[in-house]
Parts: sequence; C-alpha cells; structure tokens
Amino acid sequence: MATNLHFVLVPLMQQGHMIPMVDIARILAQRGAIVTIITTPVNANRFKPSISRAIEDKLKIQVLELQLPLAQVGLPEGFESFDLLPSADLHIKLFAAMDMLEEPTENLLRGLTPPPSCIISDNLFPWTTDVARRLGISRLVFYGPGCFTYLCLHIVMNTNVLDEMVSDSETFVLPGIFDEIKLTKAQAGSWGKRDTEAMVDMFRRMDEAEKGADGIVVNSFQELEPKYVEELEKVIDKKVWCIGPVSLRNRSLLDIAERGNKAGINEHDCLKWLDNKESGSVIFVCLGSMSSVCNEQIFELGLGLESSNVPFIWCIRRTTEESERWLSGYEERVKDRGLIVRGWAPQVLILSHSAIGGFVTHCGWNSTLEGVSAGLPMVTWPHFADQFLNERFIIDVLKIGVSIGMEEVVAVGDQDKFGVLVKKDDIKASVESIMDKEEEGEVRRKRARELGKMAKRAMEEGGSSHLNTTTMIQDIIEQLGYN
Ligand code: UDP
Repeated sequence: MATNLHFVLVPLMQQGHMIPMVDIARILAQRGAIVTIITTPVNANRFKPSISRAIEDKLKIQVLELQLPLAQVGLPEGFESFDLLPSADLHIKLFAAMDMLEEPTENLLRGLTPPPSCIISDNLFPWTTDVARRLGISRLVFYGPGCFTYLCLHIVMNTNVLDEMVSDSETFVLPGIFDEIKLTKAQAGSWGKRDTEAMVDMFRRMDEAEKGADGIVVNSFQELEPKYVEELEKVIDKKVWCIGPVSLRNRSLLDIAERGNKAGINEHDCLKWLDNKESGSVIFVCLGSMSSVCNEQIFELGLGLESSNVPFIWCIRRTTEESERWLSGYEERVKDRGLIVRGWAPQVLILSHSAIGGFVTHCGWNSTLEGVSAGLPMVTWPHFADQFLNERFIIDVLKIGVSIGMEEVVAVGDQDKFGVLVKKDDIKASVESIMDKEEEGEVRRKRARELGKMAKRAMEEGGSSHLNTTTMIQDIIEQLGYN
C-alpha cells in the first residue's frame, strides 16, 4: 500500500453518521492509510476516547475541527449535531451552516501533509465533490443506509410515484423493487421531502454531486442484500463498495462499549446484570439517538414490557420530572427483571451479549445492522426518515422482524402532538412474538443467527467486506497514479 495514502473523512454531524465514519476511519488506518476526520468541536469531543485509543494503537488518525457559523444561521451555540436540535424545522438551518464549511474545508485540506488522496463524505455535503475536483483527488460518497433502502429512496425521489397519490395514508407497492414492499405515501416520502425551496435546492445539489462522485461506500455487506447491491450499482451507474458491518471492527471492551455519547450505565455493571440472565432471554429496547416519545408513550411502553414478563433492558433517551416520578415506582415493581438506562446505552455491547434474545428498534440503519450483526430478531418501531423502509427490509426482505404497529410518521419534536401511538397490548404481543420459542419465532431466530454469522464472516480477512475495502483502496491508488 502506498505509504502516503491519505483519506479525509467528512461525516454528517449526527450520531448515526459519525459513529460508522469513526469505525471506517479505524478500518482504513488499520490498512496503513493516514486518516483525517473533519468535524466540529462538540462532535470531536464525543469521539475523543475512541480516537485516543486508536492513536495509542499507533493508527495514523487525526481529527481537525472547524467552527460551524451557527450564529449566522440563527442557531444557538453548541447546536452542532442534528440530535441536539429540538425540532425538525431547525434542520435546514444546520444544513445552511454546514454549507458554509466549503471554503474552510478546502483551505484546511490544502495545508495537509501528506496531501489528501481521497475525500469520503456524507451525501449531504454536496460541495465536497467540488472541493475534491479542485484538489484533483477522488470523492467517495458515504451512504448512511443500506443498498435496499437507498434504492427505494432513489425510486421515490426520482419518479412521480408519490405525486400520483392523493392521501398521505394511502398504501402502495413500491415499483422497481424485487420484494413486495408496501408503504404509505407519508412513510415512503419521509426522507428527502422537498417541501421548501431550500430543500429542493439541497437535494438537487446532492444529486448532482453524487453523479460527479467516484463511487459509493455503504455500511452493509454483500451477502445481506446481494440483489440490491447489484441493482443500486446499475441504477446509479457507480461502483458501490459494501464494507460493513463496520461496528464489527470493534474488538476491545472499551471500543465496543464507548461509541457516541457517554453511556448512562457503567459497562461492567451492565455486563454483570446480563451475566445473571439466561441465554437469549432478554429483550433490548432502544429507539436511537434522535427519536423521542412523549411521557404517555413512555408509560405505555413500560406497561407493555411489564405485562410481557420478558426480562428487558430499556434505554430511555430523555426523561422529565413527571416521567421520573412514574419510573421510580415502576423500577421498583420490575427490579427483578428490568434494567432502565437513562440517556445513552452501550448498544453494541448489550446486543452482543448472549443473554439478549431480541431487539426493539426504531430501525435506524446502524441499529438495524447492529441487530443483524448480533444475530437477533427484531421488533420494529420506526418514526421517520428512512426508518419505515428499513422496517420493511427487516420484515419483508430479511424476514427477521415483527412490527409493533407504528403507522404514523413522527418527526423530531412532534412526539407530544401525537400522544400514544403504540398501545401496551401491541407492545406485549410483539415482544412475546419475537421472543417466542415456538415454530414461527424459532424460524425467525434461526434466520437471524445465520445472518449474524454471515456478517462476521464478511468482516473477517478474506470476507466480502474485507475484500471490498482492499479493492476500494486499490482503486484510489490507481486513480492517483501512485505505486
Ligand atoms: N446508539 C447507542 N446508544 C444509544 C442510542 C444509539 O450506542 O442509546 C448508537 C447505535 O448503536 C447506532 C447509532 O447510535 O450506532 C444510532 O444510529 P441509527 O442509524 O441506528 O439511528 P439514528 O440515531 O441515526 O436515528
């Protein structure tokens, strides 16, 4: 490998994008490349422990910080990540601030030694294609979700399939997809909504930049969705490199436990609790880094878990005085079989413990893939964006999931408007169904276990993702004319 190969990673400022990009940084550095991650102070701070460990391991990774011009777009100081914004209507402001990073990024890259060889950046940074062109280097696009979901989004955004439908709640079968995928118009159109001029412009630029990019890097693996990898390559006419599940590159306890925010539970306490439970008996409930549910829905979820009699770890992202009051009595009632984590859970650590038998997920792509990697069947509870498509992937394509019955799209900040959308009886029924040891549950579990093994094989030396990483690096070297 060329000793001066230098990747610059520009991840979207959001946990679900930062976390896999930090894993990708370590994967590339383990292959001998130099890696620079460009982000903002708040985001850099979240990943300090993980990056420091990588540097101690002699990996050549550095993080360079740029200030987002938040005041200029009317955002308060510190609002540097989408998960820190209280409502979805502020997202466009953060996008506007991100757009202003083009010049500072280019100046920073021009001063790097050795000079950058390739930018891997999120699709929501369209200007990185222009920066790469001006520097005479490659730009690869990092795709947040998997190939199935991107293909669905591509169809939704590039055809008039949604325009033909009058009502948001109308169900339709997505055309151009191998499996029968049924969704409502609102669910299918939740990501990539072009409801303002600014959004129309942003997606137009994103499309153009993607067309000018040199390839696509996806956190998925070939064996998970072979038809969709091939079809996506055909449809977008670009090389697609599936190099995941990138979370599986974490081997040490701390690397597995410390991803993203500081966890609300000590990893050893968490493992001790799980060690005392029977194999495959516990369900893990976590709804990601952005989705929120209102207090009434928290209570309903708690009651559903309580009535299911299944042992559980439940991560609650945000509590209020009212929910804390309710939880104090609840925790006492379920103390023999329920563990509540406030804020942030060491998700991958929990999922990979043998006591876990199922996962209630909001179907963010990383969580979906982490559930697959752990060989677990899942209860699906999507909220917005691509999550309803990932739900269909889990249920209709992989056939390892049971829906909790969430129909409505609930954007960030809108949870209180909707109240209780999932009833305790449906929570109980879906949790019992996923943990079921009878025929249907057993078939799902077996399939999930098989996929988990395939995921691990893909990341091992000689596995498909390992090989794809090699060819991706070789392609960059060839494009640069290195030897
Ligand atoms: N995550 C975690 N603990 C939490 C919540 C989330 O470790 O309490 C991690 C999770 O493992 C995943 C990422 O945060 O890697 C969330 O990404 P995903 O795409 O699943 O959903 P998003 O949060 O972007 O909606």
